[in-house]
Amino acid sequence: MMQQCLHRKERIMKTQGKSTLSRRDFFQLIGLGAGAAAVNSVSHPMSITALANAPSNGGKLFKRPWWVRTVDKPTVGATNSDFQRFSGANIGALYKNLKDKAEGEGAYDTQQALKNQHIAQWIKEEKPGFTLRDRTLYDGSWTINRASQPGEGIYSWTLIGNVTPPQKLGLEPYTASPEEMANTIKTVARLYGAALAGIAPMNEKYVYLKQSGKDVVFKDVDVPEVNDTEMVIPKKMKWVVSVAVQMDHDLFLRAPTALGDAGASLGYSTLGFLVSMLAEYIRGLGYQAIPMVNDTAASIPFAIDAGLGEMSRLNRMITPEFGPMVRLAKVFTDMPMAYDKPIDFGAARFCRVCKKCAQACPSGTLSFDTDPSFKTQGPWNNPGHETWYENSYNCYSYWQDITTGCGICFNACPFNKADKAWVHQLVRATISEAPFADALMRQMDDAFGYGTEDNPDDWWTYENWPAFGVDSVRSTRS
Ligand code: SF4
Ligand code: SF4
Repeated sequence: MMQQCLHRKERIMKTQGKSTLSRRDFFQLIGLGAGAAAVNSVSHPMSITALANAPSNGGKLFKRPWWVRTVDKPTVGATNSDFQRFSGANIGALYKNLKDKAEGEGAYDTQQALKNQHIAQWIKEEKPGFTLRDRTLYDGSWTINRASQPGEGIYSWTLIGNVTPPQKLGLEPYTASPEEMANTIKTVARLYGAALAGIAPMNEKYVYLKQSGKDVVFKDVDVPEVNDTEMVIPKKMKWVVSVAVQMDHDLFLRAPTALGDAGASLGYSTLGFLVSMLAEYIRGLGYQAIPMVNDTAASIPFAIDAGLGEMSRLNRMITPEFGPMVRLAKVFTDMPMAYDKPIDFGAARFCRVCKKCAQACPSGTLSFDTDPSFKTQGPWNNPGHETWYENSYNCYSYWQDITTGCGICFNACPFNKADKAWVHQLVRATISEAPFADALMRQMDDAFGYGTEDNPDDWWTYENWPAFGVDSVRSTRS
């Protein structure tokens, strides 16, 4: 046994320093070799041979690790006849009425007064993570996103200032093969800040019925239009460019604080920068484009259909490279491109065993049900699709109590180790390839102390800080 352990250690040492984990390394490291392949081919829906041949999404820039498989349907997200375009509102809009209804008239105002009192008091007390420089980092990071409303300013649904659209020059729009068109757009998305990009087909059911008090409608028109009562999407827009930006994990390690929440607000502003320029680029090629962040349509299902990640217990998407530590946005367009496919890297299956986010959540928001279901939790949920629905009322109420967004659940997730260290790749490959090890992987994550809160003040002392707090090439892509 000792001999075997030494050999295994040697194999591990040999693999250290490599930037990627190959399939061969993986089976050697877990010491199961052909045996694992045999077990896995039985317990996994795809055989090892099929895995070897499975196409990978993403093109040259967003090539996935070998343990990420493309599949025909998302691993979670079946729909029934209740699934229609969402007519409800988000929890932010619903919260006041729900609070007063649950706790009596005036409960909301009392909570808001206490929140404002705490903001000032904690600044005065210099409470770590809630000092003036922490809170202003959070608010300042929102600036780009808050500068324009959906359909206006940088989020214009029509040409802003690009002078090269071929129609203006008496030329035809840019054309190439669907694959080349997709690669072109992904390359530009990457330049503009995308950690991940994929192409999904339009699904009108993901598009909200209302945005900014206006009806969102699909019509047989050439150009998108935003008027006083309607936001008009041309029916010919059959392609959705789904993009993700990385959020700063080091900030999220300080959740729940105002400092930690700067990771989320900076993500939204980075998305505004990205999708507004990507839309203008597409218009410059001679096509129509509508940039959106959280507005107008649900970002998550498009991202899942585009193969960026899998649905999780967070009722948010997890990516193979960055776990849940991403923010999502999308651009609708009539530019023809090759579609990507959903992926399976074992995340949704692992969520059935893990439940770490639900245990870490201080407000009882996340589901402990083993399997996803169609059981909604309130009017903030769009019914008719399979997921782990969350109680957003509890979450939002907790945010009011702590005066800022939270993010403990994102930080807790074992998929967060966004780097090329082989050990983290080994864990993710094991989760993907060895379902029998899911419980062990969860225990190991706890044993190594991952997902616990770091000292907020330490963040201000970091050296060699990458721009935007993220290293765009530290993922497992190879
Ligand atoms: S953000 Fe915080 S309160 Fe909300 S679900 Fe996550 S851990 Fe719970
Ligand atoms: S913490 Fe565990 S259960 Fe929650 S999303 Fe991550 S993997 Fe899934």
